Amino acid sequence: MSGQTPKDFLKFLKNPDFIDGIYNYCDSWCERCAFTDKCMNFAMRKYKEEDKSETNTGDNLTEVLQQTTDLIKQIIEDKGMSWEEVASEADKETHTVDPHKEADKHWNVRAAKEYTYLYGSFLKEEQGFMRGKGVEFQNELNKGIISVEEAEEALLQIEDAFEVINWYQSLIYIKIRNACQLFFEEDLSDFMVDYYNGKAKLTLVSIDRSLAAWLVLQVHFPEKVNKITRILFQLEKLRRQIEKDFPNARKFVRPGLDK
Ligand code: SF4
Repeated sequence: MSGQTPKDFLKFLKNPDFIDGIYNYCDSWCERCAFTDKCMNFAMRKYKEEDKSETNTGDNLTEVLQQTTDLIKQIIEDKGMSWEEVASEADKETHTVDPHKEADKHWNVRAAKEYTYLYGSFLKEEQGFMRGKGVEFQNELNKGIISVEEAEEALLQIEDAFEVINWYQSLIYIKIRNACQLFFEEDLSDFMVDYYNGKAKLTLVSIDRSLAAWLVLQVHFPEKVNKITRILFQLEKLRRQIEKDFPNARKFVRPGLDK
């Protein structure tokens, strides 16, 4: 594969089975994704891994990036423009507001950060409670209060809930920050407006899934109800505010991911 030309690479990227842009609005959890065979991002990563194991040079990422740059240059030149012209146009762009700073100040972004903090504190303070749950199940098993199947089912639910919460907690912050930053950009095209609504939709879906997972924990750990309720409240406030600030987000249909 290492002897591939930009044309070969372009052919690889034009696989008709790929769903256009699916990776822009997904949760990046490829291990749990049903669309790996339709995702260009996933295919590119596999391509790079295979290429790396074949050649073992370690330079393949650079090579793929170089090929992508070459392709962009080729497309620009085909349109009768020069690479230097495009670069200098980009340099001339000025912004009256700094979208990054505005995003960092935004209530949604600060609330998402607060959620990651609450999650981190919860884990830190409650490190031993999973172990405690294991002992509790063992005692109940010994007394015949629950069956092996019931204990296994409960442990699976708890493990899954933790995985979901863990996966989405940083994603919520990253994606809503991304959406807010784009929201403050000037003169956005329709595509970019859709793009930030898609990011806001992804944040909302991540919150929906996290809320469901926290509720599972609340069922299994009734003694933690106060702490979990505080977290649920924080997430619910964030969800409502995002729906208010991005009224078209829920309506946005993410390619391949939303029916
Ligand atoms: S669409 Fe699926 S396979 Fe592609 S990057 Fe997202 S999670 Fe991974």
